[in-house]
Amino acid sequence: MKSIAAILGAFILTGQASAVSLLLPPKKPKNIILMIGDGTGLVHLYAAYVAKGGQLDIYAFAKHIGLSITASANDFVTDSAAGATALSIGSKTNNGMIGVLPDSSKRETIAETAAKKGLSTGAVVTCELPHATPAAFYAHQPSRKMYAEIVKDMTANTAASILIGGGLPYFDTNALKSAGYSVSVGTETMSKNTGKRQICFIDTLKEPLPVAQRGPTLVHGSVHAIQHLSKNKKGFFLMIEGSQIDWGAHNNDSAHTIAEAIDFDLAAGEVLKWAKNNKRTLVIITADHECGGLTLHDYDKVNKRPTMNFSSGHHTAEPVPVYAFGPGSEAFSGVYQNTAIYHKMMDLLNLKSK
Ligand code: MG
Ligand code: ZN
Repeated sequence: MKSIAAILGAFILTGQASAVSLLLPPKKPKNIILMIGDGTGLVHLYAAYVAKGGQLDIYAFAKHIGLSITASANDFVTDSAAGATALSIGSKTNNGMIGVLPDSSKRETIAETAAKKGLSTGAVVTCELPHATPAAFYAHQPSRKMYAEIVKDMTANTAASILIGGGLPYFDTNALKSAGYSVSVGTETMSKNTGKRQICFIDTLKEPLPVAQRGPTLVHGSVHAIQHLSKNKKGFFLMIEGSQIDWGAHNNDSAHTIAEAIDFDLAAGEVLKWAKNNKRTLVIITADHECGGLTLHDYDKVNKRPTMNFSSGHHTAEPVPVYAFGPGSEAFSGVYQNTAIYHKMMDLLNLKSK
């Protein structure tokens, strides 16, 4: 009987290198960083690529690309609550619902399951923390509008080791401290927050400002969160959201949409460079849905950006791209439902749905 080495040798000699890779166990990541560009379809990122003079780190790093179908349980067009819930619990729910099934029953999120298995988890966003996307990973409520209940859920949820975003006025800082959070306010003080469990508010506002006034808080927050989470030898799960790309698109505001998409790519660039060096981190960059029905018809020479035509002020049903880099990234090629992203991530982290 031939030894494995002899068989492998024969494959190599006959030039069947791909057959060799089939015999080897697929590489699994220790860490997953899921980046969500809210409302960010194929065209939003391409607009940013054109505006940056033909360069985007997401394009440069992407190894495997797929398409995610974003319809919710009760609507052809999803909202951010059902869109993020599909990614956080792996089941379709109704628009407006946070971390629950259509019958309002709670389901454990990937962040909660990962934390139970000893991984560290966190979220970095450019919206207020109780907003739909981050809430879907750390709260369970039948309506995204139930901010008081969502804030209570997020305060009490021990799954998060670090939360970075806006919305300070919604939270009771004493309750946060009692729950074990080390609280900081402002991007400058974020790096000085060395607590075991951290909540870092980027400003004192209810809703963070657009990137032009806000500055690169997403980059700083992403770097700070990775530094904190990567201390855990068992690994981590981090969700990073470019929240306001969607807001620019709702307002059909080309400049804001592009600026937020460029800011998202800036954060992605830092994340991808870190992941490349780390070698055991899978980075998935996708969206919860498209927003604005965006098309590019021409190039605006004066503003040095594409001429953007929004066909809607709302979300659309267009499937959204999924860009993956790192160990396990090949699993993200193909066309699939948004819920499949959750199941692929769970499988790659050896986690079981509950
Ligand atoms: Mg969002
Ligand atoms: Zn939206």
